[in-house]
Amino acid sequence: MGSTDLIAAIATPPGRGGIGVVRVSGKNLSPLIIKIINHIPMPRYASLSRFLDEDGSIIDQGIALYFPSPHSYTGEDVLELQGHGGPAVMNLLLSRCLSAGARLAQPGEFTLRAFLNGKLDLAQAESVADVIDASTGEAARCAMRSLQGEFSRVIDDLVQALTDLRMVVEATLDFPEEETVVLPQADVCSKLAAIQSQLDDVLTAARQGSLLREGVGVVLVGQPNVGKSSLMNQLAGEETAIVTEIPGTTRDAIHEMVEIEGVPFHLIDTAGLRETDDPVEKAGIARTRAAIGKADLALLLVDCRWGVVPEDRAIVDSLPPKLPLILVSNKIDLLAKVPQIESGEDGPLIYLSAKTGAGIDLLRRKLLEMAGWHSEAEGIFMARHRHVEALRESGEYLRNALELSRQEAQLDLLAEELRAAQQMLSSITGEFSADDLLGEIFSRFCIGK
Ligand code: GDP
Ligand code: ZN
Repeated sequence: MGSTDLIAAIATPPGRGGIGVVRVSGKNLSPLIIKIINHIPMPRYASLSRFLDEDGSIIDQGIALYFPSPHSYTGEDVLELQGHGGPAVMNLLLSRCLSAGARLAQPGEFTLRAFLNGKLDLAQAESVADVIDASTGEAARCAMRSLQGEFSRVIDDLVQALTDLRMVVEATLDFPEEETVVLPQADVCSKLAAIQSQLDDVLTAARQGSLLREGVGVVLVGQPNVGKSSLMNQLAGEETAIVTEIPGTTRDAIHEMVEIEGVPFHLIDTAGLRETDDPVEKAGIARTRAAIGKADLALLLVDCRWGVVPEDRAIVDSLPPKLPLILVSNKIDLLAKVPQIESGEDGPLIYLSAKTGAGIDLLRRKLLEMAGWHSEAEGIFMARHRHVEALRESGEYLRNALELSRQEAQLDLLAEELRAAQQMLSSITGEFSADDLLGEIFSRFCIGK
C-alpha cells in the first residue's frame, strides 16, 4: 500500500456506450502522455486528441483531460482519455496505456490513493462506493452528503470535544496540585453527558443510513394460492412474479426490490415449503430456506376465509425463532371486509386485499416501522455496519466514563475510557486505520474507481 507507480483502468462500465473512459494516475505522467497523444494538454481543459498506438497508428480520436498533481481525484497526476465507448476500442486504449508504462489498477486503487494523499478521509472514500452502489435515489443522496464530508465533520466535532475533555482530565492527573487546570467534577460530568447525547444522535442517524444502504430483506411465506405473488406484484407495482390459479406454480424464490420512502426492501416470494419429490420444486425449497436464513422480516400470508390453519403453524415454527413476523390476512374483498390492523400474538395482523390493493398502505407503513425507519430523522448519514459498530462501542466507553466521573478517585480509569472512546471514533474517518482494514474496504470497489 502507498505506491505511486502508474496505474490505469477502464473507468466506464463494460459494454457499448457513447463514450468510454480510460483513466491513468501516477507520480509523473508526462512521458506516458507524450507517448500516447504527442503533446501535454492544458491542465483541466478538454483537448481533442488522437490516441496513438506504439507504431504511431491511431487507436481512437477523443478528448484528453489532464489533471496535474495535486489538483486531481487521486492527488497525483491524472489523465483521462475519453474515446468511443466500445469494448474493443477501450481494450486497445487500455493496452496502450500499459505498454506506455502503466500497470492495471486494482479495484478501488484510485480512491485508495485519494485517501492516502489526504484528498478524502476513510468515511468519504467509502461513500464513493456507496454513491455508485446506491439502489434508491434517497440512498444516493445520502451517500453524496457523506462524500461531501457531512458525516466526517460530525465525527470530527465529537473527536474534538473528547480531545478537549481528555486534555483537562490528563492535566489534572499529571498536576493534581495545580488549581488552574483542575476541572470541577460536576463540569466533567455535564460535558461528558453532552458529548454522549450528541453521539447518540449521530448513532441514530447512522443506523438510518445503514438501513438505506443495506436495505431490508423480507420473505413472503404461506400456503400455495394464498396470494404471495399477487402481494409482491402489488408492492412492486408491476407484474413480476407469476400469478396463477394452480397451487404450487411459484416454484422458485423470486427476488424483487421495492422502494418504500426511499428504503430498499428486498422481497423474496417463496415456493410453498412443503414435502415434495419433484426435484425442481426441491431445489426451489432449498433456495427458499437460504433466503429465509438471511431475512430481516417475514410476511406470513393466509386466506382470510380460512384464517391460520395448522399448515401455517408449521411454517411459523420452521422460521428462525427471532425473525419478526407480520401476519397478512389476504383476499378481504371476497368477504367484503375493510382493511384493518390488529396486534396478534406472533406480531401485527393486517387484513388486506392483494388484488384490489386495499390495505397495502397499512402494510407499507408497518414494514417501515418494523425495519426501524424514522422518516422524521434529520441529516441521515450513509453509514456502514463498521461505522454503526464504532459509534456504538465508543458510546459504551463514554457510558463507563460517565459512571467513573461520578466517583472521585477514578481519574486514571476515566482518562483511559475517554482515550478508548476517541480512538474508536477516529477509526471511522481513518486516523488509526490498519492496512488490513484498508485492503478490506478498497478491494470491494469496482475497477477504475
Ligand atoms: P401464491 O400461490 O400464494 O403466490 O398466490 P397467487 O398470488 O398466485 O394467487 C393465487 C390466486 O388467488 C390468483 O388467482 C389470484 O388472483 C388470487 N388472489 C390473490 N390475492 C387475492 C385477493 O386479495 N383477492 C382475490 N379475490 N383474489 C386474490
Ligand atoms: Zn406465487
